Amino acid sequence: MQLILRQGRIVDPSQKLDKVADLGIEDGRVAEIAPAIRKKARKEIDARGLLLFPGFIDMHVHLREPGREDAETIETGTNAAARGGFTAVACMPNTQPVNDSEAVTAFILERAREVSKIAVYPVGAITKGSQGKTLAEIGEMYRTGIVAVSDDGHSVQDSQVMRRAMEYSALFGLPVIDHCEDRDLTAGGVMHEGYYSTSLGLRGMNPAAEELHVVRDAILARQTGARLHIAHLSTRRSLEAVVHARKEAAITCEVTPHHLLLTDAEVCSYSTNMKMNPPLRSREDVDALVGATASGDIDAIATDHAPHNINDKMVEFDRAPFGIVGLETAVSLIYDRLVRPGILTLDRMARLFASNPARILKLDRGTLAPGAWADVTVIDPELDCEVKSENFCSRSRNTPFEGWKLRGGPAMTIVQGKVVWSL
Ligand SMILES: [Zn+2]
Ligand SMILES: [Zn+2]
Repeated sequence: MQLILRQGRIVDPSQKLDKVADLGIEDGRVAEIAPAIRKKARKEIDARGLLLFPGFIDMHVHLREPGREDAETIETGTNAAARGGFTAVACMPNTQPVNDSEAVTAFILERAREVSKIAVYPVGAITKGSQGKTLAEIGEMYRTGIVAVSDDGHSVQDSQVMRRAMEYSALFGLPVIDHCEDRDLTAGGVMHEGYYSTSLGLRGMNPAAEELHVVRDAILARQTGARLHIAHLSTRRSLEAVVHARKEAAITCEVTPHHLLLTDAEVCSYSTNMKMNPPLRSREDVDALVGATASGDIDAIATDHAPHNINDKMVEFDRAPFGIVGLETAVSLIYDRLVRPGILTLDRMARLFASNPARILKLDRGTLAPGAWADVTVIDPELDCEVKSENFCSRSRNTPFEGWKLRGGPAMTIVQGKVVWSL
């Protein structure tokens, strides 16, 4: 056998599995899971005390290549992902040029083959240049290898364009990943509109901007039969709209670690690492999101990893770009702040990070069933993980979690049977 991980606690919802066992890997695939595998392997790893999950998939990252290689590249971004415990990522199309054509999709896939140790799945733009006017070459990008379409970062304002995009995507069974924002309502805004925006004197972003698009697109999804995935859902009312709309339409949603762990009160520091879109919300919203993550109403946790060059973020709050990095902190944050206190079970964590993203994007991953790709995320539940951005593999440092002391985090990342990162 190629590799055996001995006596780790294996958590795999796809097999209703949570037990201490040996995991045997051969030819890059899971060969068997058994109480004690008798065979010997070329490499054996003592996994006692460690947690073994199906490889985690971050379905929402920005790798910045092509175009902004000063902030991140496919190589540095995927190294950050591997270090953060992720075996696959889906990368958003708002690069320069935008991934709205076969050529850009092919470039990303080719580059990933050359430099990435993990799987990279491109997301294609909904509209040309993500300008919101005419549909991008969705069919050609689909044949080249995109797994979803999205105008993330821009949001499709024209309802008729969104309707056509859903009709067209449905032909290919491609999910539409929706950055929900009515831009008339958020124009000029830099943070959540509420008590803190008023007291700080900063222009607020009305939460209704998100909720209006969630409702609009849920209606269009019902009408067109498209699969709709709400990106970085951030308000209690957006959540209620998704739960309600699910009765009649195929709707899934993701939440980010920062929307689960930080509120708009953090903006009082004026740190530009507290500026992202959607913005940090109220305590009431955060509590609702945490509850829905635990209950299963939220399908996935995704980082919205958005690296920015330090010079771009070292400006006044008003002028800073939106976005923070997330790949190298997400797993520790969720483990320490939500799993350790008993809010999320290990089974739920595995669904949020692995099996549900795989299902939503229709990837042949997210399971440790025999025959599946041997992608494994190994977590050491007792590991001390202080967030130190100077140690990041990412080319950017814009984290709001600097200095946080967390216990539990990635110990090893295995992709198709190969250890691509370990402590
Ligand atoms: Zn977005
Ligand atoms: Zn994004």
